[in-house]
Amino acid sequence: MTAITPVGPNAEGVRWDLSAICADVPSAHALLDESILASEAFDAAYRGRVATLDAAGLAEALAELSRISNALHRVGSYVGLRRSVDVNDDEARDLETVVDQGMVRAQNALRFFDLEWIALDDAIALPLIDAPEVAADRHHLMSERRFRPHVLPDDQERMLAEREPVVSAWQSLFAQTVSNIRAPFDDGTGEAEKTVDELLSYVHTPKRDVRIAALETLYVALEPHGDVLASCYDSIVADRLTMDRLRNYDAPMSARHLSNELEPAWVDAMMEAIEARYGMAQRWFRRKAELMGVDRLHLADQYAPLGEGRSMPYEEARVIVDDAFGRFSPELTRVTRSVFDEQRVDAEPRQGKRGGAFCASVAQDAQPFIMLNHTDTLRDLMTVAHELGHGMHFALSSERQSALSMHAPLALCEVPSTFAELIVFERMLETEPDAATRTALIRQELESGFATVFRQTMMARYEQDAYGARMSGQALTKDRLAEFWFARNQSYYGDSMELPDGYRRGWSYIPHFINTRFYTYAYAFAHLASLTLYALYREQGEAFVGPYLDFLATGGSSSPGAQLGAFGIDLADPATWSKGLDEMERMLVLALEG
Ligand SMILES: [Zn+2]
Repeated sequence: MTAITPVGPNAEGVRWDLSAICADVPSAHALLDESILASEAFDAAYRGRVATLDAAGLAEALAELSRISNALHRVGSYVGLRRSVDVNDDEARDLETVVDQGMVRAQNALRFFDLEWIALDDAIALPLIDAPEVAADRHHLMSERRFRPHVLPDDQERMLAEREPVVSAWQSLFAQTVSNIRAPFDDGTGEAEKTVDELLSYVHTPKRDVRIAALETLYVALEPHGDVLASCYDSIVADRLTMDRLRNYDAPMSARHLSNELEPAWVDAMMEAIEARYGMAQRWFRRKAELMGVDRLHLADQYAPLGEGRSMPYEEARVIVDDAFGRFSPELTRVTRSVFDEQRVDAEPRQGKRGGAFCASVAQDAQPFIMLNHTDTLRDLMTVAHELGHGMHFALSSERQSALSMHAPLALCEVPSTFAELIVFERMLETEPDAATRTALIRQELESGFATVFRQTMMARYEQDAYGARMSGQALTKDRLAEFWFARNQSYYGDSMELPDGYRRGWSYIPHFINTRFYTYAYAFAHLASLTLYALYREQGEAFVGPYLDFLATGGSSSPGAQLGAFGIDLADPATWSKGLDEMERMLVLALEG
């Protein structure tokens, strides 16, 4: 057990020490300048020459790219992390301006390399990929080339890049419109102006009338912006469909599948398997209505707390995750203790700090950092577990992979974080003496599974509807989007949930639709994959641990299909998904008993 320094309530005083990333602002400037020079030297040395490189030359170029990438990531992380804990940090804000400009310069100098690599004929590229000199980056080299059939000639690519600002203007308009929405709301402590996020956060409040009123206020506040938000989406979808046509993608999801390294048929089968089990969520919502003493659940009750778990001070959360991870493998505690011991966590909520939580990988030659806003709740315990799960992935993959190969494909990014939550969850079920706390945890974990696996799938279906309509020449008006949204929600919730009429605007503020199409299904994929892995761990016990640590260390050096295949999970088999869904059923049974 690691020594615990007592801290006050709400993780008071737990702040990180960023000096391991950059000693101070002047040294961040120096590192940035050095990286820009190195990028420009790389440009001078290699531009136009990628086709002439032999295996040793390619390995040398990749090593230099890794070195530059590490330095740039260090500087970018240093400024990003400083900004995240203090929006009023002027020194960091000034540095950020310089870093942003420097990053663009460096990227402009480096971009040619990937493009020249992708443009190489197979006859030249394939033997290079198999050369032992570049074995460490084999998958990276190969997977970059999967976009080859969709890259246009150089002059056309340049023209397309020139129109990017117009596309991002729609995204900015969307973001500005949503973030400027304010509505007066009284949560019982007096009326105040609330943002969209603030109104949404009331879904966790115990007071039912406040929850329902907060959602109603949100819908009324969204209403006048419906046309603008629909126009933003319509323009972006139209542009994406045009790009798909120019780039030879045969369906709206194809580009996403390709970048996720997943076969369309696998994802189709997964979504169908998930939809076939929507009834699980409906059973829980009916039971929750019973427990709340209402006839039918209102949408605002979906995440409402039922009963109270005990509080979870920061030090205790540390002890619990340490114990739970240690039982899985001492290797995990080695990694997570170093996060605490080296002051790589900032857990104390305070004025000027960003909300939420995240884990930053920083760089392959550095260690991950974790930002939390710990308020001593049970939910915070699972957040500590979640972010440490990302941390162990980054730490172990950076030990074994290069800077270019350490980052796992998007579809797998949330697997270690969800798995870490499951480790802590199961341990709590075994050891937590307070029955009310165990019950609260089960419900929380179940509802978060529904929100990720079911709701994200439902949202991916909504996106399919929108792209399908736009392809057949229908403009995406606010009423049409409302129809698609409501219908998909009804098929998920069935008659187990009362959906207020204002919820027809529920599509309008969700940023993923605007920023990354079909990102949604990757969440469902990762959560189900983690549940499947956990079921295997329960079956196999100790034998599972070694392969799981290998999986964490694999990072981005192999595809999702191969990484999960190592556990015997066959993504091509539609029956694969039932294991993870059965895990949810197991949690549901526990929750129904509670
Ligand atoms: Zn995460």
